[in-house]
Amino acid sequence: MTERIDREHPVFSVEFFPPKDEAGEAELWRAIRRLEPLDPAFVSVTYGAGGSSRDRTIRTTARIAADTTLVPMAHLTAVSHSVAELRNVIGAYAAAGIPNVLAVRGDPPGGDPLGEWVAHPEGLDYADELVTLVRRLGDFCVGVAAFPYGHPRSTDLDADLARLLAKMRSGADFAISQLFLEPDGFLRLRDRLAAAGCDAPLLPGIMPLTTVRTLRRGPELSGAPLPAGLAERLEPYAEDPAGFRAAGIDVTTELCARLLAEGVRGLHFYTLNRSLATMELVNRLGLAAHSPMGAVTS
Ligand code: FAD
Repeated sequence: MTERIDREHPVFSVEFFPPKDEAGEAELWRAIRRLEPLDPAFVSVTYGAGGSSRDRTIRTTARIAADTTLVPMAHLTAVSHSVAELRNVIGAYAAAGIPNVLAVRGDPPGGDPLGEWVAHPEGLDYADELVTLVRRLGDFCVGVAAFPYGHPRSTDLDADLARLLAKMRSGADFAISQLFLEPDGFLRLRDRLAAAGCDAPLLPGIMPLTTVRTLRRGPELSGAPLPAGLAERLEPYAEDPAGFRAAGIDVTTELCARLLAEGVRGLHFYTLNRSLATMELVNRLGLAAHSPMGAVTS
């Protein structure tokens, strides 16, 4: 799949989560059908904390493989799974024709990244072991997570870089970053990876700033700083959802444009199962494969 990233022109990819009910399912499929003609490099489906969405992740990703022209990637975590259970899930991905897996450790059950990590007695401890397992069990292209501002558990960016390099050495083909709101931390990580001799693609994770909630939750979830200038710029729209969305999309466009100008090979959008903000950004940035700079249609 990395051949879909390593192109002359930068690409984009999108991330969905497996829906919980029929309304969510309908919303997800509306988003998928709208984004499909823009030909993203791949579309990924997350894996619920503690394996809670295992069947929904498999089902959703398998349907994308079977019913669309999109290239699917399924996430997988080691939380609460024995190696035997992980082998079953990986087998289900292979049987469903899913060629790409994002191998992440997952947060401890309960969803708190800082909660105590207790490995399953017959399971795995770290994502690099999961990369090795996925690699051993099939001809998958494997991605891993990267943290431009450090993993929430880590206080040392050097150790963090060493962990990321260990995941790449275990067989990962590319990495996707946690979301962030200013580009310097991401660009530093990209340059440090390259300086360490790793030329695998590192894709920035981008959360379109469409609501006050996305602005607040971003730094909370990622540990990435909220730049003071950004907060000031969006502050006047705190009570004006339409104004906030317009200004937020401008800010996100500027972030993406800077990353592209710095030579990143692709942008990975956290869509929250919606399509319009991502479509707008992709069109503004000229990233749509078949209709560069085309108008947004809703
Ligand atoms: P690891 O690389 O294993 O790192 C976990 C911690 O352990 C880090 O502090 C690291 O420094 C440390 N560490 C790693 N290896 C060692 C070692 N050998 N010895 C000592 N310490 C070590 N979560 C989900 O539940 N489902 C998802 O679908 C999902 N998708 C994600 C997608 C992306 C792009 C990103 C960025 C995150 C995603 N997450 C998801 C969240 C992720 O699971 C958590 O952030 C998790 O805490 C870290 O996962 P990891 O793969 O980076 O773990």
